[in-house]
Amino acid sequence: MRLDKFLADSGYGSRKEVKKLLKSGLVSVDDGVVKEAKSQIDVEKQKVTVSGDVIEYQAEVYLMLNKPQGVISATEDTMHKTVIDLLHSDWERFKLFPVGRLDKDTEGLLLLTTDGAFSHQLMSPRRHVSKVYEADVDGEVTKEDVDAFSVGVRLDDGYMTKPAELVIKEAGTTSKIELTITEGKFHQVKRMFKARGKTVLTLKRRAIGKLELDPSLAPGSYRQLTEEEYKLFQ
Ligand code: URA
Repeated sequence: MRLDKFLADSGYGSRKEVKKLLKSGLVSVDDGVVKEAKSQIDVEKQKVTVSGDVIEYQAEVYLMLNKPQGVISATEDTMHKTVIDLLHSDWERFKLFPVGRLDKDTEGLLLLTTDGAFSHQLMSPRRHVSKVYEADVDGEVTKEDVDAFSVGVRLDDGYMTKPAELVIKEAGTTSKIELTITEGKFHQVKRMFKARGKTVLTLKRRAIGKLELDPSLAPGSYRQLTEEEYKLFQ
């Protein structure tokens, strides 16, 4: 692989920026400074360093984040803290973006990636990727709600939702539920309960398809997806 492609893929900027970096003499291959953009390297066998830091080749990045409440699912915002602001500055050089959105007050599993095709696939309505949410709901969630969700409910804009699986974990003045949906309309879970005259008090996403939120990730923490986790979406 060309050295400039290796560096650009690793988040060191455009080919033009990478050329400048190479010219500065900060890049070494197997401990010798290399300044030629078109130099060929063997990504399996050779060691590339930038300012002494070893660069592991990675064409795309996939992170699992436990999104906390109070941050927005965007790459930048003038008013609010974004999910990208939660990342260590080492990740800045990658142009990560969130796969879909969670509301500001929703927490839980959010994927961040550099891979547009991956994001597109996951978000495609035709793929019907399931999402599992846990919620506290004001009031008693009933068997009638379960039945209504299983056929679909009409949202405030007239849209009829696809069948969804509602499981009541605890019913009372506040109910705990788990809901699996296969689509992602704006504020969908909150609006589905609203259609049943109920209010969602807290909302957390626990899974996307077969990928479960790592329970060891505290809100605001993140890690890279493992190879096996990535493969769950292929
Ligand atoms: N449904 C909602 O209402 N909010 C979310 O953040 C995700 C799903």
